[in-house]
Amino acid sequence: MAEPLHIVWSRPLPEGAKPSTVTVSQDPAGRWFVSLLCEDPTVQPLPPTTAAIGIDAGLDNLLTLSTGEKITNLRHERRDRARLARAQRELSRKAKGSANRDKARRKVAKVHARIADRRRDHLHKITTRLVRENQTIVIEDLTVRNLLKNHTLARAISDAAWRDFRSMLEYKAQWYGRKLIAVDRWFPSSKLCSTCRAVRDTMPLHVRTWTCDCGINHDRDVNAARNILAAGLAVSACGAGVSPQREPSRTRRSVTKQETRRATVGIPVLSGREDVNGTDHKG
Ligand SMILES: [Zn+2]
Repeated sequence: MAEPLHIVWSRPLPEGAKPSTVTVSQDPAGRWFVSLLCEDPTVQPLPPTTAAIGIDAGLDNLLTLSTGEKITNLRHERRDRARLARAQRELSRKAKGSANRDKARRKVAKVHARIADRRRDHLHKITTRLVRENQTIVIEDLTVRNLLKNHTLARAISDAAWRDFRSMLEYKAQWYGRKLIAVDRWFPSSKLCSTCRAVRDTMPLHVRTWTCDCGINHDRDVNAARNILAAGLAVSACGAGVSPQREPSRTRRSVTKQETRRATVGIPVLSGREDVNGTDHKG
């Protein structure tokens, strides 16, 4: 370019950092990005703590923590989704190869980009906090579940959010000396009482709270998060069941994929399957 470009910096470069790689890319909304890869000398392992946390993922609540805390979706998310659905409907009505179709396609990409930006920002704040506060973080390995579920728009967005969430946790845990464990979902985390370990026969999706025979009153998602934590700590204690993550690649760009793969090395995945029927429904 003959003239200097109008550049908006997402954040200043860390002091003394020398970029080793510069990547120029354009997203489907037509925005250009220049990414600088560099070592950040300010990233140091955090002092160890004894805190551990289990995290359950859902559609209504973005995340439920084993501490009982619920992290909701962003306030605008529902409206943004409706806007996205409308833009997609409009796009489907335009004639193939027409200028209007191109315009409609750009519109869909713009809505997508805004949702993704907001969500990523939200997830960055959550993951930084979780990694700071906890030595061990246990999540579920959702890749198997994703293959079985329906492909609604809400589902697709929440799955994408989950992949971002997981990959952020992976590299931040590595940066700050924390441990991330992904446990396989095929244990009855919703039907299992996290207090007395009794397993119920059924647990329909609409049941949000229930009382176990041992007298404990459970919130469905908090109970699941506690079971996920217990499963993760068991894996961590015996060091068993380590296998590489199975990553669906269809919606990933190659750069992200490489980063994720690098970051995934060494994360144990629980492969024990207590629930052979695999009927552990969850919302
Ligand atoms: Zn119980």
